[in-house]
Amino acid sequence: MNFQSVLDEIDREIRPLLGAEGAVACYIPGLARVPVAQFGIALHTREGVEACAGDAATPFSIQSVSKLFTLTLAMRYLGDALWERIGREPSGNPFNSLVQLEHEQGKPRNPFINAGAIAIADRLVSRGQGKADLLAFMSDLCGEAVRYDEEVAASEAATGFRNIALANFMKSFGKIDNAVGEVLALYFHQCAIHMSCRQLARAAAFLCRDGAHPFDGRPEITTERHTHRINALMLTCGTYDAAGDVAFSIGLPCKSGVGGGIVAVVPDQLTLCVWSPALDASGNSLLGLKALELFVAKTGLSIF
Ligand code: GLU
Repeated sequence: MNFQSVLDEIDREIRPLLGAEGAVACYIPGLARVPVAQFGIALHTREGVEACAGDAATPFSIQSVSKLFTLTLAMRYLGDALWERIGREPSGNPFNSLVQLEHEQGKPRNPFINAGAIAIADRLVSRGQGKADLLAFMSDLCGEAVRYDEEVAASEAATGFRNIALANFMKSFGKIDNAVGEVLALYFHQCAIHMSCRQLARAAAFLCRDGAHPFDGRPEITTERHTHRINALMLTCGTYDAAGDVAFSIGLPCKSGVGGGIVAVVPDQLTLCVWSPALDASGNSLLGLKALELFVAKTGLSIF
């Protein structure tokens, strides 16, 4: 299949729609001022073929897309013991909800809601993993130096009252082992990782290669079994409260973030990253989802 011409076609179809609908996340200035009329798409195949179109080289705030990478690290360090602290069910509640945590004694429903990602940050801190380690992991995965947007990280910390509440609430149930401040410093930084579609499509490619490193023969990033499980969680929990709709209309495991990025996986074949900053009501990139719909329609690729 000529993926480059598929992506070029999608870019041509999406571009006239830019700026028409949706709104950029505006809870911090670093996201609010991102120009809305941008769209990028990139893919990386299992064999290492890359294709991209539009603003695929423009870095953006990956936000909750980072949750898939910290989950990968936590599964590597803890194996099945991770699931003593974090569930695997879609939450059916907003990504930053406190309600279920009370019913479930401080055990978050899944690793992709904020409480789950904060619990994962705690597990990583217990393993001696900090923000420098996470950046090194991301840089190794995409083969290029990536950075934190420190302004975004500082704004996340300055306005993250609900995340601070979630962390303290879990701590009150004995479900956070480390100092809340240290755990949140890692969480706020992971949200502020600055990467492009091209870098993210490549970084996530271990998910279409049974856990092997995206582009070279070094030791595997994770096991085949773990990639199956990460892909399952992305399908069921990766796109906020729209995961059912996304499975229905796109049929690929996806993880999205409020920066407008979405990583999608075609298991055993390729990874894809789309980005456009305007979000729909559920917090997913509106044109990012549209582009993924076009991609599966044009290629016939689906996990079903
Ligand atoms: N920085 C956001 C928060 O923790 C993450 C938003 C997201 O991408 O879901 O509130």
